[in-house]
Amino acid sequence: MHSATTILRQPACFLPMIGRYAVRGPNLAKTFLALVLAALSSGAMSAAAQTSTPLDVESRANKEYGSLFQLYRHLHANPELSFHESKTSERLQQELRSVGFEVTGNFGGHGLVAVLRNGAGPTVMIRTDLDALPVTEQTGLEYASQVKTKDDQGNEVGVMHACGHDVHMTCFVGTARLLSQLKERWRGTVIMIGQPAEERGSGAKAMLAAGLFQKFGKPDYVLALHDAATLEAGRVGVTAGPALAGTSSVDLTIRGISGHGAWSYTTKDPIVLAAQIILGLQTIVSREMRAIDPAVVTVGSIHGGTKHNIIPDEVQLQLTIRFFSEAIRSQLLAGIERIAKGMAQAAGVPAGREPIVKVREGESIGPTVNHPELTRRVGSAIAGILGKDSIVPTEPVMGGEDFGYFGQTAESIPICIFWLGAVSREKIEESQKPGGKPLPSLHSNVYAPAPELTIKTGVKAMTAAALDLLGKNEGASVASP
Ligand SMILES: [Zn+2]
Ligand SMILES: [Zn+2]
Repeated sequence: MHSATTILRQPACFLPMIGRYAVRGPNLAKTFLALVLAALSSGAMSAAAQTSTPLDVESRANKEYGSLFQLYRHLHANPELSFHESKTSERLQQELRSVGFEVTGNFGGHGLVAVLRNGAGPTVMIRTDLDALPVTEQTGLEYASQVKTKDDQGNEVGVMHACGHDVHMTCFVGTARLLSQLKERWRGTVIMIGQPAEERGSGAKAMLAAGLFQKFGKPDYVLALHDAATLEAGRVGVTAGPALAGTSSVDLTIRGISGHGAWSYTTKDPIVLAAQIILGLQTIVSREMRAIDPAVVTVGSIHGGTKHNIIPDEVQLQLTIRFFSEAIRSQLLAGIERIAKGMAQAAGVPAGREPIVKVREGESIGPTVNHPELTRRVGSAIAGILGKDSIVPTEPVMGGEDFGYFGQTAESIPICIFWLGAVSREKIEESQKPGGKPLPSLHSNVYAPAPELTIKTGVKAMTAAALDLLGKNEGASVASP
């Protein structure tokens, strides 16, 4: 359909990559592990490891932790929804300014761009997201969010960093501090960006549209991390190639003819029809897709009617779909439209009252594809500081991220996002016992990362990755603290 064009507009280099790697994801993960292990065992460690920086990075990360935890508590207790991240952004701007970055605010909404120039050399961009979710926190933590606000529809909602973007921001500030302290060790430019509205799939596009690469310089690499709700704190998960799915939000309005609940034969009941359509949609993935093509169709909300004995005019459904290629996206959208309209016709809904399928193009995002060679290098640098047993090759996930857009511009910049373990070993062991407490997922109202090990690991991993990619200051003494 006409609206299914977002990803077709991506540069030509993007689509073949998706096609090539989508099918081979699991094998690539194994290949990646083999490459990392081979690099480590042959002594061909990353340059960061060779220059003996790990201990220094480690001790500095440990030293910063006290004040980073205070920052984390503050961010966690003061979350802001997508498009409303002004105070969060201001706090991060202060933090980066205080360690020598040149900072620009209000870039692409509440975005921030912070630049640290340090002579000739590569440019490494590091991204954090800023926004929180309309979730009422139930963790019981001492620093749990009590924030309530109105959402765009005027409903009162709780606000929580249920996706852990507060972890990302804290690691981001820690990395900025370490890179600033270690300026003697590297050459080049570090650009740190705080991206708004990730949860709405809009912030990366907005920053790119505002001229991110044109105004601040084209980076050679773009890095990010995301906390992982099932990975042990202290570990990092890495996925070469497609790492996160593309997503589209679809509004489906099922229309009928209203009337009295007792005279249902005079109506066309959109509630019964909605029930049939929802079940019909389940057959798209189970019966229409090849079993080896990952795809998801989820109906996440249903609203219709006002009272027990009134058959309403219409029912509103909100769907999310997940995919790794434009072809699959088109197939999912075509299936939704065909099933909805076909079932309405079968129910006798008259012409002119057929279902309306609307794709929210502004909230659609393409898959996030990690550059394989950059991912190998980042994994190797992180293994150099955390130890090779801490690196976990990770399968692609059906969650979405607008980080992928930074790699999909005409510049085709290599990108890599890695997973940061955020769960204590005790919670993981408890979840594995028969009848044990399952781990909450990201976006859960009880999701509570284990802060100390998660944040220290995130700072060390991102700093090691950046140092490896930046130019080396060969004259620097590597032994100095
Ligand atoms: Zn999220
Ligand atoms: Zn997130």
